[in-house]
Amino acid sequence: MLLVNDKVISPDLLIVGAGPAGSAAAWHAAKLGMEALLVDQATFPRDKTCGDGLTPRAIHQLEAIGVDVTSHYQSRGLKLHGFGGSVEAPWPDSSFGNVGSAMPRTKLDNLLLEHALGMDGARFLGGVGARAVELDGAIRSVELSDGTRVLPKFVIVADGVRSTFGKQLGRTWHKGEVFGIAARSYCETPFSDEPWIHSHLELRDAENTIQPGYGWIFPLGDGRANVGCGALSTDNRPAKVNTKKLLHLYAQQQREAWHFGQPEGVASALLPMGGAVSGVAGPNWMLIGDAAACVNPLNGEGIDYGLETAAMAVGALDEGKDFTLLWPEMLRHEYGEAFLLARTLARALTYPQFLPLTGPLALRKPMGKIVMPAAARLMGNLVVEEDRDLVARVWRAASGASMRMRGSRVLWG
Ligand SMILES: Cc1cc2nc3c(=O)[nH]c(=O)nc-3n(C[C@H](O)[C@H](O)[C@H](O)COP(=O)(O)OP(=O)(O)OC[C@H]3O[C@@H](n4cnc5c(N)ncnc54)[C@H](O)[C@@H]3O)c2cc1C
Repeated sequence: MLLVNDKVISPDLLIVGAGPAGSAAAWHAAKLGMEALLVDQATFPRDKTCGDGLTPRAIHQLEAIGVDVTSHYQSRGLKLHGFGGSVEAPWPDSSFGNVGSAMPRTKLDNLLLEHALGMDGARFLGGVGARAVELDGAIRSVELSDGTRVLPKFVIVADGVRSTFGKQLGRTWHKGEVFGIAARSYCETPFSDEPWIHSHLELRDAENTIQPGYGWIFPLGDGRANVGCGALSTDNRPAKVNTKKLLHLYAQQQREAWHFGQPEGVASALLPMGGAVSGVAGPNWMLIGDAAACVNPLNGEGIDYGLETAAMAVGALDEGKDFTLLWPEMLRHEYGEAFLLARTLARALTYPQFLPLTGPLALRKPMGKIVMPAAARLMGNLVVEEDRDLVARVWRAASGASMRMRGSRVLWG
């Protein structure tokens, strides 16, 4: 790391944000022999509002960089409940593997950060935010909150959902597209080793009215479960739901079955999804993870995409390349079809009548046994290019059709 003087640093790569995306980027850059400076305005370990669930897709990425999370807890798949039905949907056999997990973010993000810092070439400044930027299309210098001036060759922006630094670069979130609102909590339970993650698609309030949201229980293997609920929304059809209130109601409804203690650490957040942001790259910078809205619109998972986009962005770093058009194009190539179709389906869920109409059909026998494992595979975006079965073919055809109908510019464009 070139230290010009004690207040000016000139690294190959500056990474803003040390969540899963940022730490993974630091690991990949150091692996390629680059000098990477990672900064985060928080001091670690830090919490992040999340369901803490890790799909096989995330496990695959974690294993690729040598991080083990499955030895303390493994999940086999998803159990979906509601509308008089209950269906088991095991993680499918795919090139990602068929094991999932869950780990509180305070622990996972710290583990990833320490793993990255174990590499020569990776350096971290905690409690230090990226503030002002000198920009002429390309980022020339970045001023940190401790007064340090960074003169980087490349910048990867992994500053999460709000992306305050990304906004200075022109990142815009399109709230006309579907986005998530969600709340999570931690509840003590004697069943924290239960090997299935659970989701309830039919939530009712005290008056027995169906609420526009769904609940989740993700066992953590440490005497607790992450219990939360979410809803999908757009600017035109805002979900009229108080997620924290709904969460308390849900935890109460599930208390007897899971022997839950009181919900602790209740927190809520918004989630931009499915590439519904623009301004994600410039000549020498790229946005990754949540900052680039790389979140699956059908289940809200984004840790896997944060890890994947980190590997993709670092892999693309090369002097002489201009990322302004290249990076959105790479994102569209990798996720475009799947995210656009998922966004279209998620939009249907913002109509209050949709779930009560389709839920009973999808979740009850005999249809449920066929429909829901396929739905769980699609929700987890666990269909890969090589898959040739009927579900994969139908998914690809529908994805291609939604791309043709809406055009690829609605993704990162
Ligand atoms: C309620 C809820 C439930 C969810 N459940 C799941 C789930 O079960 N599974 C799943 O895979 N995903 C889930 N997600 C999504 C997941 O949390 C995100 O996709 C994931 O955290 C993205 O990682 P990231 O590294 O991009 O961003 P983050 O983890 O948000 O990290 C961004 C980092 O940037 C730092 N930062 C911000 N601004 C600056 C600045 N100017 N300078 C320096 N540092 C800065 C922040 O302090 C933070 O540490 C959920 C999200 C929500 C809201």
